[in-house]
Amino acid sequence: MGIPLIQQTKIARYILGKKLSGNHRYPLAMMLEPLFQCNLACVGCGKIDHPKDILRKRMSVEDALRAVDECDAPVVSIPGGEPLIHKDMPQIVQGIIAREKFVYLCTNAILLAKHIDEYTPSPYFTWSIHLDGLQKRHDESVCMEGVFDKAVAAIKLALSRGYRVTINCTLFNKEPPDEIADFFDYAMSLGIEGITVSPGYSYQHAPRQDVFLGRTESKELFREIFKRGKERKSKWVFNQSSMFLDFLAGNQRYQCTPWSNPTYSIFGWQKPCYLLVDEGYAPTYKALVEETQWENYGVGINPKCDNCMAHCGFEGSAVNDTFANPLKAMRVAMFGPRTDGTMAPDLPVQYGDHVDASTVRIPVSTIQHPGMDTSAEAGR
Ligand code: SF4
Ligand code: SF4
Repeated sequence: MGIPLIQQTKIARYILGKKLSGNHRYPLAMMLEPLFQCNLACVGCGKIDHPKDILRKRMSVEDALRAVDECDAPVVSIPGGEPLIHKDMPQIVQGIIAREKFVYLCTNAILLAKHIDEYTPSPYFTWSIHLDGLQKRHDESVCMEGVFDKAVAAIKLALSRGYRVTINCTLFNKEPPDEIADFFDYAMSLGIEGITVSPGYSYQHAPRQDVFLGRTESKELFREIFKRGKERKSKWVFNQSSMFLDFLAGNQRYQCTPWSNPTYSIFGWQKPCYLLVDEGYAPTYKALVEETQWENYGVGINPKCDNCMAHCGFEGSAVNDTFANPLKAMRVAMFGPRTDGTMAPDLPVQYGDHVDASTVRIPVSTIQHPGMDTSAEAGR
């Protein structure tokens, strides 16, 4: 299936408009976090480690929609916490749909059957179900037995009611590529629209620190997974650009574009991105864009960014590369990410005593965040 044409067209028009107007720091998908409370405590979650009074807080409908208007991104993703715990979530979703923005409601699906009648199918609305693997792997990841079965039942229910449904999947270390390929095959067999996949970011506040993948491990894992997909002739559809998948497979060197996924929570606009939670907040979207010291963040620039390959940081970079190099992007879309040969070199480390000259393939002065365009293709 894949992303419907109406969404592809609207977003392509939006990006072109931003580029023609010379705006390089535009939002692509806003992350709206209306609460941090969750009914799970997953091993790799960096969002639920707050005191009880914070976990009890809820963003109002007015505040959520004001932030959506302020940012004006064409896509609004609602993670959390667990959004279905928020009693006003149907009004928030309805308000965003009324603005003709594409909403992805990210849920662990435990409460989906209970609340599904409060929502209406729409081309602007997608259930994005958290699913990290097949039964054993997913239940281990969310630290509770039976959640996989509930999530699969919820997917089937939502599809039977005519909703758009995707899964969002985070990969951690020690994941066997064959098992992930089996999982992707299974997920597609359910009839979902697509898969959103990302290596888990090593949150400092996550319950466990030994589960995260390093950059090289991530790239090797994704190459093995994509290799399995090619060998099996699997029909996986990803809800992400082909260039982002190529980046995951180690074929592209991108710096992140954190402004492409601005995050608004009960604390305000989070600097600089969805993943870093200790860098402060801006009171308005304008202040976020203008006051964040963007040059202090990114791979090789800030140690907290070392292992980051998350889609909220790099999908925007991949989209920029797609527009800058459409033929290259078309080739990757047709043939899939390259799964052997030399990987693109990582960005050089520029902080502390760790400057690693052997990784420097492009002048350090060019590794900034202007409009991205720092991709370097290796060995294609
Ligand atoms: S990862 Fe999602 S489902 Fe798991 S605890 Fe965090 S917010 Fe809840
Ligand atoms: S690399 Fe970019 S997106 Fe990732 S944590 Fe750092 S600033 Fe955020």
